[in-house]
Amino acid sequence: MLGPGSVLSAEEAGERPANIKLQAIPQTAMGLVRPRTTEEVSAVLRLCHEVGQPVCVQGGVTCLDGSISAPDELALSLERMTLIEQIDPVARIGIVQAGCILQTFQEAVQAEGLYYGVDYGGRGSATIGGNISTNAGGMNVLRYGMTREQVLGLEAVLADGTVVTSMNKMLKNNAGYDLKQLFIGTEGTLGVVTRAVLRLRPLAKTENAALVALESFGAVLAFLGYCQERFGDVLTSFEVMWRAHYEHVVAYSGKP
Ligand SMILES: Cc1cc2nc3c(=O)[nH]c(=O)nc-3n(C[C@H](O)[C@H](O)[C@H](O)COP(=O)(O)OP(=O)(O)OC[C@H]3O[C@@H](n4cnc5c(N)ncnc54)[C@H](O)[C@@H]3O)c2cc1C
Repeated sequence: MLGPGSVLSAEEAGERPANIKLQAIPQTAMGLVRPRTTEEVSAVLRLCHEVGQPVCVQGGVTCLDGSISAPDELALSLERMTLIEQIDPVARIGIVQAGCILQTFQEAVQAEGLYYGVDYGGRGSATIGGNISTNAGGMNVLRYGMTREQVLGLEAVLADGTVVTSMNKMLKNNAGYDLKQLFIGTEGTLGVVTRAVLRLRPLAKTENAALVALESFGAVLAFLGYCQERFGDVLTSFEVMWRAHYEHVVAYSGKP
């Protein structure tokens, strides 16, 4: 059903950490499968459905909850579904398999003079499918919105192996049910996301960051309002560090 190297035993799965932040704790899955295609995901899920085998879907395992497998679960990792199928600079879309690492996609897109609106600290490990399944936000929500706002279309496999394809490429699309929304932010409970069509933006010509010290939270809100009025849509990020956080970072890095 799957090619060589696609199935790991419980022992082999146990050589992997449960999560990127829990390196000392091994995975406990009863096995781990690594499909390469939507058809292979479908075949695995159909078989598991027939025999009542619980499945734990895994992307980059950066989340501290849903992607940590239980001993009776079969882990299904998207780690070999990493293909960037297309980057279209004219339509400003990218088509990608769900196991593609966020940073890999960001870099491929930027090489074409474009920008993908989701970014955060876990970029080097988290996958596009994981981002979609958690509706990841990150640093650029003010300007570009959450992951939900980037997804134009997707493909998913239901628990019984049925493939649901809704690979819409159009920004303006009000035709019928918007099925993709069922799979965004639902952490794999309704299906495994296998491919997606993502919206891309022009790459900014310049970027500027400012670190501003303010006296109170009221002043922070007033400053945000001022920046939004002054800069409009050009304002990408606005993050607050409390005093204790700032002092910890300075003490740790030795830099003000
Ligand atoms: C340093 C760091 C910073 C972060 N910062 C932010 C932030 O600013 N904003 C924010 O929103 N989040 C943030 N996160 C959390 C982030 O949303 C998730 O870590 C990420 O989106 C999950 O991607 P993943 O590939 O690691 O998914 P996993 O951790 O592997 O899985 C997450 C969930 O999605 C399910 N899942 C994974 N892939 C699929 C798939 N293909 N189909 C269906 N279900 C799937 C899993 O079963 C699990 O329930 C951060 C994480 C880290 C480590």
